[in-house]
Amino acid sequence: MSSKGICILGATGTIGVNTLDVLARHPQQYHVVALSANSNVEKLAEQCLAVQPTYAVMVEVDAATQLEKRLKEKSCETKVLAGKQALETIASLPEVDYVMAAIVGAAGLLPNLAAAEAGKRVMLANKESLVMSGKLFMDAIHNNRHKGAELLPIDSEHNAIFQSMPSLINGEQHKAGVEKILLTASGGPFRTRDVSTLKDVTPEQAVAHPNWVMGQKISVDSATMMNKGLEVIEACWLFDVPEDQIQVVIHPQSMIHSMVSYNDGSVLAQLGNPDMRTPIAYALGYPERIESGVKPLDIFEVARLDFEKPDFERYSCLQLAYDAHRLGGNATIALNAANEVAVEAFLNKKIRFTDIPFVIEKALEQAPSGTSTKIGDILAQDLNSRTHAYESVKQLN
Ligand code: NAD
Ligand code: MG
Repeated sequence: MSSKGICILGATGTIGVNTLDVLARHPQQYHVVALSANSNVEKLAEQCLAVQPTYAVMVEVDAATQLEKRLKEKSCETKVLAGKQALETIASLPEVDYVMAAIVGAAGLLPNLAAAEAGKRVMLANKESLVMSGKLFMDAIHNNRHKGAELLPIDSEHNAIFQSMPSLINGEQHKAGVEKILLTASGGPFRTRDVSTLKDVTPEQAVAHPNWVMGQKISVDSATMMNKGLEVIEACWLFDVPEDQIQVVIHPQSMIHSMVSYNDGSVLAQLGNPDMRTPIAYALGYPERIESGVKPLDIFEVARLDFEKPDFERYSCLQLAYDAHRLGGNATIALNAANEVAVEAFLNKKIRFTDIPFVIEKALEQAPSGTSTKIGDILAQDLNSRTHAYESVKQLN
């Protein structure tokens, strides 16, 4: 196999760093063509010096200038590009075969679409882009399959589902006998906390996830379980199933990463230690398997696996996500946009933890019915919902 060219969008984040870790184990099979980050000069400089990509993108212009200077001092020949548009440029370079889509939030949408349209293997961590534009994004993959476009899920649950019914995304096979998807969730740090005290939760407590090390936004999403809500919508698009075929299962040990239940009584699951390098290695190696550096699962150490039904009072964001998906695409754009605004406001101590679902509910009330499938309409709706959410945040202050 010839060496595959890799572009990592969001290289300095948790997923980006884990991707570089897996790639470093396979220097003959992959080479890094491009890396991107929003503004973290220090970390991107360190990564560029280590893997010497052809291109590095910093979205913030001042940060790009600083990075360029830093790399020149060390005689590193990486070309530095600046601005959002440059993300689309690196995602569609002819020398790139696989794109790791690991930007957090709506900012990932346009570069992810560019990768699909350019016929890349898109390794999708950025679930928010699928929540915003499920139909548009899946169509972009299908319509560019002749150029090589394919979609491999990185989210651990969706990667587990994919492994338990692998022919669905890339093959044309029918959903042979699939009755239900059992989407597992850890329940986050407040699974057993008294619901009446959730209003006092601090950002520090919310980002301390019991099983996974992740970026701040997704950690808060895990605490509210909006992360699972976004994942329900993500699964509907990836696997072409209605939301009532997806059962969320609280599984505090995070060893089973999801399951698929079939009409003959079989339930297939994928298990492993909670470490994102497993799904990353699976997507890089597919259809082969490659070494990831993940510690083997010691099933005797795990000893027991527990399962609970989710409590929709504790996790009202999960209910909002189901409701939004039922309402349609404009509602899921509003859900995602308002959640991003609310989580940021919570992390900046402007609103309480329990205000997050309130801000989202208000944005959902303002969302027009139906589903936008044009990119301009999707971005306009996203902006509109953000404006409503900022207003709600202001009122809560
Ligand atoms: P993170 O916050 O650690 O990193 C985010 C990356 O995106 C950084 O490289 C940052 O520079 C870049 N970025 C941030 N804002 C940007 C902007 N406006 N424009 C361009 N780039 C920007 O996040 P993470 O935990 O690595 O998560 C990344 C994505 O993967 C998210 O969509 C998340 O939901 C998803 N995901 C993460 C995990 C995990 O374990 N961390 C698991 C499943 C899915
Ligand atoms: Mg997940």
